[in-house]
Amino acid sequence: MSDCIFCAIASGEMDTELVAESDHAIAFRDLAAAAPTHVLVIPRKHIASVDEMSQQDPHLATDLLKLCAEVARVERIVESGYRVITNVGDDAGQSVYHVHFHVLGGRRLREMG
Ligand code: 5GP
Ligand code: ZN
Repeated sequence: MSDCIFCAIASGEMDTELVAESDHAIAFRDLAAAAPTHVLVIPRKHIASVDEMSQQDPHLATDLLKLCAEVARVERIVESGYRVITNVGDDAGQSVYHVHFHVLGGRRLREMG
């Protein structure tokens, strides 16, 4: 997708430093970190959201979740704990329509709501 910022990051044209990567996914730090560890895990290929992924390529979710867990290991937050979040659509506040998991940790996280 030509006007997708995460596609631009995945293609390498933004020269973004990766925290981790796999065959089908990459992980990089969020521009506006909400916690000491705030990493985004995205597929290399464009897919809009978890809703679309569940229809078009549900197995991709396995690769994304495995990379989330690897990010937690690399960031040394497995023991202390962490949160994996994905926003779908307007009410959830999804702002980038290229599916991504937020991996958050390194501090006590507030309850969600
Ligand atoms: P959403 O609101 O869609 O769940 O999350 C999108 C996230 O992407 C936000 O936390 C935002 O800070 C992050 N973000 C938006 N544009 C960029 C960018 O160009 N680079 C990086 N590293 N993060 C971005
Ligand atoms: Zn994209």
